[in-house]
Amino acid sequence: LYQAESLNKQFGSEQILKDISFELEKGEIITFLGPSGCGKSTLLRILAGLENYDSGKIINNASHTAFIFQEDRLLPWLNLKDNIELVLKDHLNKQKQVEEKTADVLGAVNLAKYHHYLPRELSGGMKQRAAIARALAIEPELLLMDEPFANLDFPLRLDLIKLLSRIFAKKKLGGVFVTHDSREAVLLGDKIMIMQDNPGRIESSIEITIPKEDRYLESDEISQYN
Ligand code: ATP
Ligand code: MG
Repeated sequence: LYQAESLNKQFGSEQILKDISFELEKGEIITFLGPSGCGKSTLLRILAGLENYDSGKIINNASHTAFIFQEDRLLPWLNLKDNIELVLKDHLNKQKQVEEKTADVLGAVNLAKYHHYLPRELSGGMKQRAAIARALAIEPELLLMDEPFANLDFPLRLDLIKLLSRIFAKKKLGGVFVTHDSREAVLLGDKIMIMQDNPGRIESSIEITIPKEDRYLESDEISQYN
């Protein structure tokens, strides 16, 4: 679905990313785990085409790519339904289809009841769920996620991770997920790329073969104490 080969990136004279290579299959989630400042957001922006790179190669076979940012980036003056419809209007031409799809994705993240709420009337977790709904609305084949749970407590993170896992499995989405939190890295990822700093590079990679349900069982216990 997506392939990156030896990506390099400098800002000024500073090498930020060095020799980043990976291959992502349909239905697979790759996690990049690394310390703050190692270049995770820069990498994700490059993968999304929002930032250029100096050398290397990207082959993207995904029809649509969606991005979930660290902040929800909902438009504050629009309610949830309008926030999502705005994105869909470029993709669907009939208003009826736009409304159906919006109801569908809000339902998928359990926010159907709140469609008329403004972002500021919602909790952090609800806003992140709305951001997920908005990303899913365009039916992406590839979802890029930049620390989407950063401002949430662990039980809420776990809920969102479970929700995303279900959606990924059902829709056969490919995902690239970046985080500095090793716990959430192994909960969501099928493959973990461990990054080092200065310059940002892949130090090693691990494949996680334990079924996701089993990973969650243990975390459910941990989350009772968080
Ligand atoms: P965090 O976990 O804190 O979000 P990160 O791994 O996402 O960190 P990046 O935001 O990608 O890190 O930043 C990596 C490095 O690149 C930092 O040293 C940062 O200062 C630098 N950097 C990022 N964007 C720019 C830019 N537009 N111009 C110059 N330097 C930049
Ligand atoms: Mg970042």
